[in-house]
Amino acid sequence: MKIYNFAAGPAVLPLEVLKNVQKDLVEYEESGMSVMEMSHRSQVYQTIIDDAEKNLRDLLDIPANYKVLFLQGGGTLQFSMIPLNLLKVKAGYINSGHWSIKAISEALKVGYVDILGSSEDKDFTYIPRITNIPEKDLDYVYYCDNNTIFGTKFNYVPETKRPLVCDMSSCFLSEKVDVSKYGLIFAGAQKNVGPAGVTIVIIRDDLLDSPSNLPTYLRYKIHADKNSLYNTPPAFNIYVCGEVFKWLKRIGGLDEIHKRDVEKAGLLYNYLDSSTFYTTKVEKESRSIMNVTFNTPSADLDCEFVKDAEKMGLVNLKGHRVSGGLRASIYNAMPLDGVKELVKFMDNFAKKHQKG
Ligand SMILES: *Cc1c(COP(=O)(O)O)cnc(C)c1O
Repeated sequence: MKIYNFAAGPAVLPLEVLKNVQKDLVEYEESGMSVMEMSHRSQVYQTIIDDAEKNLRDLLDIPANYKVLFLQGGGTLQFSMIPLNLLKVKAGYINSGHWSIKAISEALKVGYVDILGSSEDKDFTYIPRITNIPEKDLDYVYYCDNNTIFGTKFNYVPETKRPLVCDMSSCFLSEKVDVSKYGLIFAGAQKNVGPAGVTIVIIRDDLLDSPSNLPTYLRYKIHADKNSLYNTPPAFNIYVCGEVFKWLKRIGGLDEIHKRDVEKAGLLYNYLDSSTFYTTKVEKESRSIMNVTFNTPSADLDCEFVKDAEKMGLVNLKGHRVSGGLRASIYNAMPLDGVKELVKFMDNFAKKHQKG
């Protein structure tokens, strides 16, 4: 039976990429060894990491005055590294749910935080619309673009003259982004671009300076100066991300993947909108095309849904423990057929349980 994995992360990877990695697992090209065994200082590995960076730069059209870093510590370490490097006095944060709350609590350990807007009043089921940011004295403005847990996504880029910092962990490379609008973008790989263990940071040159008493490893500058090879990097994970970047280029880049993502999400949301059985709490304008959250009429039926779906090979549809309900994560690598199968299952489940 074919399994479709709707997990929020670690998540589905393109089958073609996994097969290529498998083919090269024991011996990478003519190197005589696996990428896992290679020195990160070897010429072969240098080419792998250089190509990964170059392909990412091509995909996102990253301007020359930005550095690309491959770091460790997950998205979570960025919640701390950002304020430790950039927060001198005060930063502005938009609170759109779980992951921004975590980021805010880390920033508060370093300095003052202005909450520029929040959607807490409606359980984070929408994205706050922030205009006229009072930017005086703000070292940076921070937001989380796609809220993995609640299934919401910013459909605009907040306007500010201060450096804009963005957590794109769960929507990275799902659409084109104007990198020049940002001071710093970061993304943990395991949602949309690769295996867990590597975090990508794109940072503008002028933000690389950090307080001199900051532990070396936490400074962006040290990683930038050493081109992500200050110490042993998560070498194999970076290689797999590089293969995903190549795959994205082969299929036609971010315009093509975005078209596919929109089609997949459209199929699911159209079904949800037409259903009298399922509900989705997220406001229409704030819907994520990566993480789709919904509910059946009861928590018991939600549980039954997850179990029945699993029997059909549709796995990991349980919502996050924070929000409950159901969630289908349909990242770049989820095939259209997976979403079609899901909708078919949902319809059968509804017919079986709908009253009247
Ligand atoms: C998963 C996630 C994180 C945390 O990532 P880790 O790699 O587990 O630290 C941060 N932000 C968002 C938006 C996420 O989806």
